[in-house]
Amino acid sequence: MQIVCLDLEGVLIPEIWVNVAELTGIEALRATTRDVPDYDELMGRRLSILDQHGLGMHDIQDVIARLRPLGGAPDFVERIRSRYQLVVLSDTFYEFARPLMRQLGWPTLFCHSLEVDADGRISDYRLRLADHKRAAVAAFHGLNFRTVAAGDSYNDTAMLAEADAGVLFRPPRNVIEEFPQFPVTREYSELEDAIEQGFTRTR
Ligand SMILES: [Mg+2]
Repeated sequence: MQIVCLDLEGVLIPEIWVNVAELTGIEALRATTRDVPDYDELMGRRLSILDQHGLGMHDIQDVIARLRPLGGAPDFVERIRSRYQLVVLSDTFYEFARPLMRQLGWPTLFCHSLEVDADGRISDYRLRLADHKRAAVAAFHGLNFRTVAAGDSYNDTAMLAEADAGVLFRPPRNVIEEFPQFPVTREYSELEDAIEQGFTRTR
């Protein structure tokens, strides 16, 4: 009875906002949870920047439609799902993730949602639950599942700590330095091995 919990951006797909910044030329949209750990503050900044530039939901969706999962991610997802239950825990929004989840074969996704005006302006965002990644792992434990979690960034570390075993995948240097207790992986084969070891070690 094992569940693998994976972060989405930086683990299976590219950072959505970084790509929106590149394709729109708006440098300020480049910041991620890697740069601003406070998610509320980060999202508030993003929505006001979109407003300033008159960018709405359709503009962002046009950009996202051009994105592809990270190389090897669809095969990795398929291999993980053949061995374990998989739940993707992300701080993105269903409205953004949809085209990429299709390319990943529609694994289960727990994330947040956006509020969009009739004219397409993204007016607000709705966090389904604060600290939901950690809360999901805790809830899975309550359902008698064992969990291994993997992510790349600050917003994953509470989930990694809550899991029976936590693994970092392609993290930036500052996260590696602040959280030396988690093993670091860079390739999907390494991550797959670390997941297996995580379940074995904590059995
Ligand atoms: Mg991430």
